[in-house]
Amino acid sequence: MHWVSWDKMCLAKRHGGMGFRDMRKFNDSLLAKQVWRLIHNDQSLFCKVFKARFFPHGSILDDDVKINGSYAWKSIIQARSIIQKGALWRIGSGNKAKIWGDNWVPGLTSGHITSERHYFPENAKVANLIDQVSNTWKRPLIQHLFNPIEAQKILGLPLSNHANPNKLYWPHTASSTFSVRSAYHLQICSEYLFDAQQSQTTMDSTIWRFIWGLNTPPKIRHFLWRACTKSLPTRKNLYQRHIPIDPLCSECSQSEEDALHALWGCQVAVNLWAKNTSFQSLQGSSFTSFTDLLVRVSNTMDEKLHLIFAVQAWLLWIIYLIMLDLHAVQLTQLLPAGFLHKLGPGKGYALAALSQKFPIPHVPVVIEAMAARVAVQLALDLKLDRVSFEGDSTQVITALQSSESNYSSYGHLVAETQNKILSLQSFTFEHVLRSANSVAHVLAKKAISIESSYLWLSSMPHDVISCLQADLAH
Ligand SMILES: [Zn+2]
Repeated sequence: MHWVSWDKMCLAKRHGGMGFRDMRKFNDSLLAKQVWRLIHNDQSLFCKVFKARFFPHGSILDDDVKINGSYAWKSIIQARSIIQKGALWRIGSGNKAKIWGDNWVPGLTSGHITSERHYFPENAKVANLIDQVSNTWKRPLIQHLFNPIEAQKILGLPLSNHANPNKLYWPHTASSTFSVRSAYHLQICSEYLFDAQQSQTTMDSTIWRFIWGLNTPPKIRHFLWRACTKSLPTRKNLYQRHIPIDPLCSECSQSEEDALHALWGCQVAVNLWAKNTSFQSLQGSSFTSFTDLLVRVSNTMDEKLHLIFAVQAWLLWIIYLIMLDLHAVQLTQLLPAGFLHKLGPGKGYALAALSQKFPIPHVPVVIEAMAARVAVQLALDLKLDRVSFEGDSTQVITALQSSESNYSSYGHLVAETQNKILSLQSFTFEHVLRSANSVAHVLAKKAISIESSYLWLSSMPHDVISCLQADLAH
């Protein structure tokens, strides 16, 4: 049954020049599939037997799972690390995933938090970041604890209002379920990544020693370290992390805005550095990265200039952050929903329309799932009883129509929406083309000036009404 995969592996072997080592990885991927089954298909005989024997009261992922047993069991336990490395926790109540150490933030490297741990114990759970009454993220706490990229990613994670268990999902396939092939590729990629990081660490160990040895407040050292590891939220880094933002510098539009540009090459920075003749002399040279620049500073200047450089770069960063904050307003997504009362073809009237701004989630399909939830809630609030919901995401509409469990990153939103909708007398979900959804587009445009959310009831803006009427004609 694995012949197809095996063929593909052989092909990859010719192209990538892999050896025996990779056959072992392929085998590990097959074993990891068994681990995935043990996590998700609790009812199979295979799972029942292994569970009863090795982890009767918990999960195969628990630290205290028995590691002694048959050869088969030992191999499975070994392959567990593939799941632990590659899978992500979808946050329900947040009481299973650890804030530090577990993978739960899609869009970050490996999905885990790298900001230093403060205030909380080592095994603190994500639930601590959620306001259990309003079921929203504790925004100020999150912005205080984590670096801006991490904070933004977390705040963009949708929470379900419905008590939902945390689920482990596999972000490396479109369906979010485990596949042997994706696990194999993940192992190959992460090994390359690890190799690259290691050689970089040895190569640059002098620069890390230089940074951590600077006699500045810790936050400035930490800032320099982030500038050198490409982990500052510059426009270029944000863009590379799939945040819809223009990577070009907003000040000069001359260049992509990375750390070197923001802190050295852009006109704002040039003007500041030019005030000191020692740095002025460096401005004639070209540098490939901020690390490159810092290496030069550390090698050619004295300790006093090292400190001036560190503090000035940090000041430029603070200026940059203030500007970024203004842009952050645009990093939200609009969710429009509208209802019409259809009396027949071409007849009807608009009941209500809602548009709401949300922090940007990581993939468009999550936005669609959130939109569906908003629409269903609105229908309930308006006491409608027979409703036909239309949406332009095939994935979400199919998921809503299906009665099977959904293991994707938005599965908890689908489950909550399906649960809510049972209060309606009758309902349907239908897929429509984006072009047929013109109400949504007009609403989205209207909502740009809106603070957070806005609901129109019966007396709707004129342009929305005419659009609704055009939709009715379909
Ligand atoms: Zn610039």
